[in-house]
Amino acid sequence: MYNLISKAVFSHRLNKQEIVSLLSNDDCNEVLFKAADEIRKKFVGDEIHLRALIEFSNICQNNCCYCGLRRDNKNIIRYRLDEDSIFHLAEYAVTQLGLKTIVLQSGEDLWFSQERLCALIRRIKTLDTALTLSIGEKTHDDYLAYKNAGCDRFLLRIETTDKALYEKYDPDMSWNKRKQCLLDIKSVGLETGTGCLVGLPNQTIESLADDILFFKEIGADMVGIGPLIPHPDTPLAQAEGGTFTLACKVMALTRLILPDINIPATTAMETLEPNGQLKALQSGANVIMPNVTLSDVRQHYELYPGKSSTNLASCDALVSFKQKLISIGRTIGQDYGAHKKSAEI
Ligand code: SAM
Ligand code: SF4
Repeated sequence: MYNLISKAVFSHRLNKQEIVSLLSNDDCNEVLFKAADEIRKKFVGDEIHLRALIEFSNICQNNCCYCGLRRDNKNIIRYRLDEDSIFHLAEYAVTQLGLKTIVLQSGEDLWFSQERLCALIRRIKTLDTALTLSIGEKTHDDYLAYKNAGCDRFLLRIETTDKALYEKYDPDMSWNKRKQCLLDIKSVGLETGTGCLVGLPNQTIESLADDILFFKEIGADMVGIGPLIPHPDTPLAQAEGGTFTLACKVMALTRLILPDINIPATTAMETLEPNGQLKALQSGANVIMPNVTLSDVRQHYELYPGKSSTNLASCDALVSFKQKLISIGRTIGQDYGAHKKSAEI
């Protein structure tokens, strides 16, 4: 196992069987996490990039079996923020909190047409900020329009590379279409974020290894990995869900194989494990997405129960969070935190 970790540290290459061996064996987890932390330091430095997350609509046309926002869930109060409210949250995050990236995330809410979204993108881009969208599957023409309106990045998790599993848990959706969306996002010049869920029922270690190799194959600029947390109002209510450790291992291996990309310490990790995000930041992650959505609507954006969110929506909270980061030897990124490709890989 130690030899495999050394191989990944020096070559950033592992084959599927080697990744499976590391994921299946828990004897050297701490060595793996430490190696990922060192590679993170070498390639992306000690800066942590903060991205302000705005969950602007929980209305969704899809029915993903794991997600509390699925259209068949009648037990949630649906909301949609208007454009002024979204802009003012973004303005607050940039001018009062000094954050350098806004992430707009939602269910697949068709009210936000290409025209409406592009107007919003143009307005937010009058602020001094990078902009990321995480709004699901769109057409090539949509992605191009977002890019031309000034959008910088797009996040779309592949969720799993196991096509049969994907189509079972994302009914009426097609894995090939999702992959095509990622290729379209990349082809229009948006920084491309993807990622996976860890802990879907019947997901194999082999398919998690495929996920990591897929991130490399499509040239991901960002990868978010989260443990599945079962939601009681979904078909996966009784599922076991993912573990923090396995999700952290998938994340650490992703750092070793794609050393210069941006990797968030995900909210689901914090929800499952006390100080989960700090641990993830010491195991390969370099991004945090503090939620700046106001709490009156944020409570309804319940992908899974107990969804924790780094609450930095005040200057005081931000100052104390920075102290925590300094205590683990890190600093806050001062630029927009784009993917800086290393010539060394
Ligand atoms: N609707 C867009 C999409 O699906 O790409 C963006 C928003 S969606 C809520 C963001 C991510 O939440 C999904 O990609 C999925 O991986 C994650 N998610 C949904 N339900 C979850 C659950 N029960 N546990 C952990 N993560 C979950
Ligand atoms: Fe909708 Fe995204 Fe949830 Fe699927 S994961 S139901 S697309 S919000």
